[in-house]
Amino acid sequence: MHDTAELQAAREQLVTYSTRLVDDGLAVGAAGNMSVRLGDIVAITPSGIAYHELDAADVCLVSLSGAELDAPESPSTELPMHLAVYAATNARAVVHTHSAEVIALSAACPELPAVHYAITGLGGTVRVAAYARFGSAGLADAAVKALDGRTAAILRSHGAICYGATLAQAYDRALLLEWLARVYRLARAYGEPKILSQAELDEVAAEARRRRYGQRRRPAP
Ligand SMILES: [Zn+2]
Repeated sequence: MHDTAELQAAREQLVTYSTRLVDDGLAVGAAGNMSVRLGDIVAITPSGIAYHELDAADVCLVSLSGAELDAPESPSTELPMHLAVYAATNARAVVHTHSAEVIALSAACPELPAVHYAITGLGGTVRVAAYARFGSAGLADAAVKALDGRTAAILRSHGAICYGATLAQAYDRALLLEWLARVYRLARAYGEPKILSQAELDEVAAEARRRRYGQRRRPAP
């Protein structure tokens, strides 16, 4: 078991970011969910509780196979998808949104193309996963498939899923994805958008690595 201080911090972080989910327009009501992995434990938001009523004590702890270790409420219905992402990637946090721009895009487009170079932060062009019912094993499979080589995927007529090394990073990626979908929609209003080539994206990724983008020179205090 992880030390309780670490688990408590994860519970509180999940409540903080869940509240932001509604404020930032990434979900409405109790939609969307998020989790953090600490070793072989996953802390995940409960199912069906409005975020403004969510308390750290409501956050559920499950094993990597989904066994409930401490679940005062029912774990999120998308637990199978979260666990599938942890099994298939090096994710330490997963954020699932029901944000309007990506859902609108998913109903009309097969992918979110590289309309802005920041998409390299998600691994490149973001795929739209095949539709499958919420909470199903089929949705978990489709999400993992769409995430191949990416840190974000769009779930057709449902929402988005993003992961990262921390909850803050996964959440920032969800915001970036929503912003990119909006930029793409705006660009389409002018005509057929010009899309960045793979060579242009590779150049951006190489330069970001060289500059160690996103990393402070001094360790955070
Ligand atoms: Zn959902």
